[in-house]
Amino acid sequence: KPLRVAIMGLGSYGKRVADAMKDCKRAKLVGLVSGTPSKVESWKKEFGIEDKNCYNYQNFDQIKNNPDIDAVYVITPNGLHKEHAIRTAKAGKHVICEKPMATTAADAAEMVSVCEQAGVKLLIGYRMHFEANTLEVVRKRKAGEFGEIKFFQGLSGFIIGDPTQWRLDPVLSGGGAMMDIGIYSINGARYMIGEEPLWVTAQEVKTDPVKFKEGIDETITFQMGFPNGVVASCLSTYSMNYLDKFFLNGTKGFAEMQPSTGYGPIEGRTHQGPLTNPHVTHQTTQMDEMAAMILDGKQAEIPVDGREGLKDMKIIEAIFEAVKTGQRVDLV
Ligand code: NAD
Repeated sequence: KPLRVAIMGLGSYGKRVADAMKDCKRAKLVGLVSGTPSKVESWKKEFGIEDKNCYNYQNFDQIKNNPDIDAVYVITPNGLHKEHAIRTAKAGKHVICEKPMATTAADAAEMVSVCEQAGVKLLIGYRMHFEANTLEVVRKRKAGEFGEIKFFQGLSGFIIGDPTQWRLDPVLSGGGAMMDIGIYSINGARYMIGEEPLWVTAQEVKTDPVKFKEGIDETITFQMGFPNGVVASCLSTYSMNYLDKFFLNGTKGFAEMQPSTGYGPIEGRTHQGPLTNPHVTHQTTQMDEMAAMILDGKQAEIPVDGREGLKDMKIIEAIFEAVKTGQRVDLV
């Protein structure tokens, strides 16, 4: 029996996930949640969804009475994740929630506790955590093939277009590039180094205060200090393209990946040679693996649960505080 999933938020990423799920072996798209009836009509036809599995934001809570849906994948703007995830949990359905899981660490913590109390899983849509070349580098690091890890660099950014989109609205986004794309460098540092940061420092550059208003970061450089003495040096930006790169350096070798988080093939090499795992659509692998986690209790090699997402939210908040104060911020 597959994991029967409803997608909430039929936007551009929702469509990408729905398309990717066509190739899933363990997960199946069976339901829709949308405020736009015309989208529901066209998706229903394209994906063969039954009427009884379609909801809007008003009648969504009735999903609790629908035995044919196991999980809801929340793919709405960041500022709505908390409400949407909590309503899903209270309806007794497992929650898969896009990144960033919330717009504050307090909201993320509340989501974790509501899901735990409701006895449902909360998984964050971290697709890189299941990608084959990424996992290969992590396995090599765990096996000591890079020796002692000394340094990580993460570069994450793109030039954002339409100035009216929700990503540039602080209420719906919770922040700018950091919440959207900088989070990949935070994730990368944590899974590549294999430790949790103790402190952060950060600096912000804003060249366009009209497009990037108060509460929307344009470019932030940040550093994270780890218990083993490693410092990760990272860049998050909405105003430069061609920034999708990870570099991990150790006493016996290195790994470099570029692109490191884009949708297409993840390419790179280590001191031992190129990374050669074949590309599989990330969201297909992610949804099959998440189905195995929910249905069989399988453990992810790199965790993607709500508590992991909460760690990232705490780091993001510390980065924002470090930008504001100019001080090093300790993560307890
Ligand atoms: P989008 O704007 O294309 O889609 C958002 C959807 O939410 C739209 O269908 C919109 O109608 C709906 N929506 C519901 N209530 C809304 C409201 N009050 N205001 C605005 N829209 C509302 O955005 P997207 O690119 O699909 O991003 C959605 C989420 O997915 C975000 O959290 C984003 O960070 C995440 N995302 C993740 C990845 C990834 O690789 N994991 C990639 C892209 C986006």
